[in-house]
Amino acid sequence: SLYNIVQDLKGNIRVYCRVRPSFNCLSKNVIEYIGEDGSLMILDPLKSKRDERKVFRFNRVFGPAAKQDEVFKDIQPLIRSVMDGYNVCIFAYGQTGSGKTHTMNGPSGGADKDFGINYLALNDLFQIQNVRKDGIDYEINVQMVEIYNEQVRDLLVAESTNTKLEIRSCTSVSGFSLPDATRHSVKSTDDVLNLMKLGELNRAVSSTAMNNRSSRSHSILTVYVNGKDNSGSTIRSCLHLVDLAGSERVDKSEVMGDRLKEAQYINKSLSCLGDVIMALAHKNSHIPYRNSKLTLLLQDSLGGHAKTVMFAHVSPEEDSFCETLSTLKFAQSVS
Ligand code: ADP
Ligand code: MG
Repeated sequence: SLYNIVQDLKGNIRVYCRVRPSFNCLSKNVIEYIGEDGSLMILDPLKSKRDERKVFRFNRVFGPAAKQDEVFKDIQPLIRSVMDGYNVCIFAYGQTGSGKTHTMNGPSGGADKDFGINYLALNDLFQIQNVRKDGIDYEINVQMVEIYNEQVRDLLVAESTNTKLEIRSCTSVSGFSLPDATRHSVKSTDDVLNLMKLGELNRAVSSTAMNNRSSRSHSILTVYVNGKDNSGSTIRSCLHLVDLAGSERVDKSEVMGDRLKEAQYINKSLSCLGDVIMALAHKNSHIPYRNSKLTLLLQDSLGGHAKTVMFAHVSPEEDSFCETLSTLKFAQSVS
């Protein structure tokens, strides 16, 4: 399709930025300007000279007023390409509190129905499945795991356990998988909502025990699509929806013990992810997938014909300026 041709010309990696609304009306807003062309200008709150402005450019920038469905519309064609056999990976990157979970899952607490990408994506896949008259039978399964301190845990088991999942190379597809992770067949958005609730609950259980652990783990919701047509030929593809651990740098002089270990694991896996995306963007012959569990698990949807989207989230308040700058630099470097 034309869409795919355009994508091929642009490369298979897209980087978006999303700025959440400010929660502090007394704070200066560091976002100076958001352009229709994907540009974003920020101003260091401690320096007000015009030459202290920094400009970044992305595929698109979503401002604080952007609604969930507006964000979803932009990636909808990519999501749909999963039904045609493409592997797709969508990441939410940014410091804790910048809106990653809001984008992927929805508002905290899930009180109102302002669903995020996870739900909207699955909802869309079901709709395609229903309207397609090309005789393809689709089966959709989901899996949800968390990576914490380089250990992988199943989030979709009734009794949350701390059993570590082993990563194995799989022969059927190129890449690696978790043979012991549970995969759940889903047929409706209700099935999906129930599983997402279970996953959130399992994440939260460990959070209270270990003090907001969810911001220090990566969660990966994977949608597996299996299609079979009348002639018996098959389509196999997957969509990874990844809510990354908070990217904030912790001050090594202030943290010790477990917290320092956590921080080091996060720094390492996020920088590995950056290295992989950059190596792909530069078409390097060696892609360092093996340097972290995150990149190893996502190998099937990073590179090759796979399509990758990174949402870099930033907070607009002045006290987040350093983290905002570092998020924008990271995102710019992989785009
Ligand atoms: P993160 O997952 O990056 O730590 P959250 O998604 O939990 O951040 O967002 C922090 C808070 O800000 C939550 O209460 C969330 O509902 C709210 N929030 C984030 N992004 C938006 C947005 N675009 N519009 C409205 N509220 C938002
Ligand atoms: Mg979160």
